[in-house]
Amino acid sequence: MNHQIRLKSRPTGEPTAANFEAADGPVPETKDGEVLRRTIYLSLDPYMRGRMSDGPSYATPVQIGEVMGGHTVSEVVESRNPAFARGAFVTGYDGWQAYGVSNGKELRTLDPQVVPISTAIGVLGMPGMTAFVGLMDIGQPKPGETVVVSAASGAVGAVVGQLAKIKGCRVVGIAGGQAKCDWVVRELGFDACIDYKAGNLRGDLKEATPKGIDCLFENVGGEIFDTLLTRMNPFSRIALCGLIAQYNSAPYPMQNIGSVLINRIRMQGFIVSDDLSRWPLALKELAGHVAAGRIKYRESVANGLAAAPAAFISLLKGGNFGKQLVKLV
Ligand code: NDP
Repeated sequence: MNHQIRLKSRPTGEPTAANFEAADGPVPETKDGEVLRRTIYLSLDPYMRGRMSDGPSYATPVQIGEVMGGHTVSEVVESRNPAFARGAFVTGYDGWQAYGVSNGKELRTLDPQVVPISTAIGVLGMPGMTAFVGLMDIGQPKPGETVVVSAASGAVGAVVGQLAKIKGCRVVGIAGGQAKCDWVVRELGFDACIDYKAGNLRGDLKEATPKGIDCLFENVGGEIFDTLLTRMNPFSRIALCGLIAQYNSAPYPMQNIGSVLINRIRMQGFIVSDDLSRWPLALKELAGHVAAGRIKYRESVANGLAAAPAAFISLLKGGNFGKQLVKLV
């Protein structure tokens, strides 16, 4: 059977288990030119919260009764397409289900000898591309500058900070809890990390950024972003990547937006899929750094498709530590 998780109802505020339903469909049949694959890893990502709602967005929402979308790593179990051999590992967008079928145009074949296949939906997948494109194209960090990244221990943030270190910057992370902060400093080599849950964000930030902030990679929004605005330098840059603090709630009333004007900050929101032409370069550079051990990563793995809704709800509250995956087989 093709086990699936479908959207049952649209959440108001925080999603709950009742917004999802488990269902079984038949395993899809392959036609000439098609590839059937079995999902091994499913990626859970914050953007999925947006797809559960039908408000205005850059992307089409998941319809009620539809399988939730998501990036996947799979094994080809049946192939009527000469480009894909049975037993090959591929990455695609099969969603929250055990099997996917297509003509294979959107698939990328993976080599398990080079790096673990799960990285194709993490550090060497959409989150890694997001970090690369947002930091390099919008943040434009220069050696000696101070770069700050929020949600620093997460899939995107961890790559941002390590790339900025490779560029020769002073890197300060912001994360929830001492364990996450310890990891980004000790394992990833950040210069400092502020635990925003410790209750002294403004003071800790001032101490960690004695020369202000030249480049901010913003993943969170809300009070954290508003406080960071008070430390921005003249002519600094903000790559506005995500606003996870308000995905489940009303927008935060910003107090310090005036800093953008006073400091002539260049702020740009972006969606990683805007410019796919950047992906090959980003992938090549990141793959080199990962293979050489210059960029490290961490994964939180939930066991079985049935665990996906709870893991996703937890991700939106910081329950993950590193890239959140679900392992199906
Ligand atoms: P993460 O792996 O970073 O997981 C999300 C993290 O967000 C949690 O672990 C938690 O970390 C933090 N968080 C959640 N709620 C809050 C809150 N209220 N206040 C502060 N921190 C919170 O996810 P990703 O790396 O996949 O994504 C990070 C951000 O990047 C998200 O906003 C996402 O939407 C965005 N994104 C944007 C893309 C684009 O194209 N623009 C593409 C991919 C991601 P902690 O415990 O440290 O608080």
